[in-house]
Amino acid sequence: MKIYMDGKLVEKKDAKVSVFDHGLLYGDGVFEGIRAYNGRVFLLDEHIDRLYDSAKAINLDIKMTKKAMTNAVVKTCAANKIKDGYIRLVVTRGDGTLGLNPYLCKKPHVIIIAAAIQLYPPEVYEQGLKIVTVGTTRNMSEALNPRIKSLNYLNNILAKIEAINCGVMEAIMLNGQGYVAEATGDNVFALKNGLLITPPAWCGALEGTTRNKCMDIADDMGLDVCEDVMSRYDLYVADEVFLTGTAAEIIAVVEVDGRKIGNGKPGVVTRALEASFRDFAQNNGTPING
Ligand code: PMP
Repeated sequence: MKIYMDGKLVEKKDAKVSVFDHGLLYGDGVFEGIRAYNGRVFLLDEHIDRLYDSAKAINLDIKMTKKAMTNAVVKTCAANKIKDGYIRLVVTRGDGTLGLNPYLCKKPHVIIIAAAIQLYPPEVYEQGLKIVTVGTTRNMSEALNPRIKSLNYLNNILAKIEAINCGVMEAIMLNGQGYVAEATGDNVFALKNGLLITPPAWCGALEGTTRNKCMDIADDMGLDVCEDVMSRYDLYVADEVFLTGTAAEIIAVVEVDGRKIGNGKPGVVTRALEASFRDFAQNNGTPING
C-alpha cells in the first residue's frame, strides 16, 4: 500500500509521523473521509472545500492549493489501484514543541490513505439500526464548533462509548440546549407526514456531504425537505428516521431510546433514497484513471 506523505508516495511501513506532531499531541489538525465508487472519487470538491474551511477556522495554512490537493487524492487512489474504497485525508499542524503554541510548528503534514471500505454488516442495512440518545452533548459552537472536522474527535468518541456500553452501535448527540445535533459520525434525518427534516449546522451538526447530497436527491424525488430544530420527540414520533455519512451512506434507524420508529422496519422513503443515492454515487465523481 502506498501512502501519500507531504508530496511523496511512500510504502505503508515508511509512513510515519513524529511524536512531536501536534496532530498526535493535541488533535490539532483537520481531516476528511472520502469514498471512491466505480473508479471515481465521490464529491471530491465538496470534501476539499470543507477541509480548507476547517483549516481556515483553526488558522491552519495548508500551504497547498486545492487543485494540488485534489490531484494528490486522485494520484494516491491511482497508485493503490483503488476502484471502490475509502480515502482518509489528514492535515496535521505539524512538528512542534511540547508546548501548545501552534505557531512553533513549522509546516503542516499532509497524509492521504486510500484503502478498502469497512461498512456496517449487510444485515444492519437490511434490518436498520437501533440507537440511543446519550448524555455527552455535542461540543458547544463557541468552544469547538462542530462544523470544523478537526482531528479532535474525543467528543464523538465519548458518545460512541456510551452507545456501545448501552449495547447499540450508534448514538444521537444533543446540543447544549437539548436539541438533536447529529450522530457520532453521521447526520440524522426524520420524515414526518411527507416532510423530511434534518437539524441545521448551527444546532451542532457537521454539514455532511452525504447529508447535502441526500437533500438534493430528496428534493429531486419531489419530497419536501427542510432544515429545522429537532427535539428527541421529533425522532420518537417520526414515520422514518435515517442517518447519512460517507462511510455509512444512508442507513435506516428503526428504534430510538426503545421507541419503535414507524412499523419498526426501514421505511419506504429511506429505501428509495438509499437506492437513488447509490445509483448517483456509482455514476458521478472525479475519475481516477489509474
Ligand atoms: N457528522 C460527523 C460528526 C461526522 O464525522 C461525519 C463524517 N463521518 C458526518 C456527520 C457525515 O459527513 P459526510 O456525509 O460528509 O461524511
